[in-house]
Amino acid sequence: MKIAGFIKTSLVDWPGKIVSVVFVPGCNFRCPFCHNSHLVDRKKTKKIKNLSEKSIFEELAKRKEFIDGVVISGGEPTLQPDLAEFLEKCQRLGLETMIETNGSNPENLEGILNFKFKILNFIALDFKGPLDNRYARVVGLKNFEPEIWIKSLKIILSSGIPFELRTTVVPGIHNGKILTEMAGQLKKIIENYKLKIEDYSWYLQNFQPQNCLKSTFEKIKPFSKIKLEEFSKAIKKIIPKVKICD
Ligand code: SF4
Repeated sequence: MKIAGFIKTSLVDWPGKIVSVVFVPGCNFRCPFCHNSHLVDRKKTKKIKNLSEKSIFEELAKRKEFIDGVVISGGEPTLQPDLAEFLEKCQRLGLETMIETNGSNPENLEGILNFKFKILNFIALDFKGPLDNRYARVVGLKNFEPEIWIKSLKIILSSGIPFELRTTVVPGIHNGKILTEMAGQLKKIIENYKLKIEDYSWYLQNFQPQNCLKSTFEKIKPFSKIKLEEFSKAIKKIIPKVKICD
């Protein structure tokens, strides 16, 4: 698997776990607010010196007594054709695994969840915007069918794997009305599965105006914590487990 970065220890990427984080290069979305532009912009990714899998597994083997697991982030992990093999190797070391995904590759996700044995313990699924023709604009593409994302969510729901949803809340893209609309769309999908909406967590992450894919976004002032709390209060009437990461 291509590896563009590695953090030895993180306490924030997987709630309640101590993990190492592996970053893969490349993404099929172009979210203008993306703060990992060095992993997405092709001009920048070309200059990245990939780390060898061997060196990463040597490091993980040394650390396995001190960490609970490994998070694969990016970039978009499901674009890596050998992601399943990488996850399998982590599990063989006795480490739990989590991926952070934009939900654009339901086939790969399904393959991972139907692997011959359990290779994935947790998913953080990005929920970028309202599930209609606005989704493409939010992710910086001319076209993106939100049904693809919905398919990923349904695969996750059917599999029973624990997961959480994450939305980076960006002024000019999101507001209280849009987030409330998104909450309603999410509730409808989950309840159609006869599942309880109160069992699922949705994290609102504040936008970070640094290293953005579209440099003009670096001039945007993020919402205040008070504003995010105002949004969260309104959404909680629909999705009780909304949490803020400021
Ligand atoms: S924020 Fe968007 S562009 Fe950046 S890695 Fe995530 S999905 Fe890709």
